[in-house]
Amino acid sequence: KKAKVEGHRHLFYTQKMTDTVAQRLNLENQLRQALDKNEFVLHYQPKVNLASGEITGVEALIRWNDPLTGLVLPDSFISILEETGLIYDVGLWALHQALQDFLRWRAAGLNAVRIAVNVSPLQMRHPGFAAAIEQIVAIDPRAAQGLELEITEGMVMADMKQAISSLHAIRALGISIAIDDFGTGYSSLGYLSKLPVDTLKIDRMFIADMVTDPQGLSLVSTIINLAHSLQLKVVAEGVETEEQSRLLRLLKCDQIQGYLFSKPLAVEVLEETFLRRLG
Ligand code: C2E
Ligand code: MG
Ligand code: MG
Ligand code: MG
Repeated sequence: KKAKVEGHRHLFYTQKMTDTVAQRLNLENQLRQALDKNEFVLHYQPKVNLASGEITGVEALIRWNDPLTGLVLPDSFISILEETGLIYDVGLWALHQALQDFLRWRAAGLNAVRIAVNVSPLQMRHPGFAAAIEQIVAIDPRAAQGLELEITEGMVMADMKQAISSLHAIRALGISIAIDDFGTGYSSLGYLSKLPVDTLKIDRMFIADMVTDPQGLSLVSTIINLAHSLQLKVVAEGVETEEQSRLLRLLKCDQIQGYLFSKPLAVEVLEETFLRRLG
């Protein structure tokens, strides 16, 4: 009798695993078609200068508008895009779309706002990446100066020499580079000083800890001072409370980003809410 129960259980797990594989394949196929069907969208989250209170730029954050379930967040599909290689085309789409929106704002006279686009390590390591970027920014001479790419420490650590040379090539075009989620990777101080980057974005985990834990506060303070001593700008990610914002201003953090000021917004909402004011 026992064996029978176990046999049954075994069957159950196998069925469950088959479902998961089928679901995954289905998702893969849907993502494959999503680009052609124009189902990806960019939402934009403002970054604010702490000293002036002004919006200095926006970060493009991709979503998939699944006709069946609605907006899907990137954490549930970026890794699939990476594993399937779809990230190359989707990544270029995101750069094109972001620059198109940015140039529309520039044409409307919004000269201060910059645009940041997240770039997957895989995308950046692709041999054609720098050339593709060069082509995209050639559309308009104002594009490169207003564009920032957000890369992660993982990207850099995988192949330091290659990373440095592609970052130099990209910066030579006039594009800026930010290190995203700073503090979560395995970075060393030695590597930071060698990297051709402009900005550090402190991961929101550290920002969450800074009000609850004195060590968390001194860690954030240390990162800000480190960035400034390397002539880098610092952005605090995931700022949700006035208290965090107040402490960050005291610590001379340059910019904040987070729900306190604004969630990521659909482009129409961003334009309606914030960008009109800047004109
Ligand atoms: P990220 O670049 O570090 O973006 C910040 C994430 O934190 C975003 O999640 C944003 O919505 C969320 N966030 C912002 N402020 C707050 C806050 O105050 N509290 C909390 N709890 N969260 C906040 P999202 O949009 O789900 O994106 C997740 C990640 O997906 C991004 O992290 C980025 O690594 C990746 N990603 C997004 N768009 C793209 C893209 O176009 N290409 C690539 N390769 N990756 C992307
Ligand atoms: Mg980012
Ligand atoms: Mg981040
Ligand atoms: Mg992240």
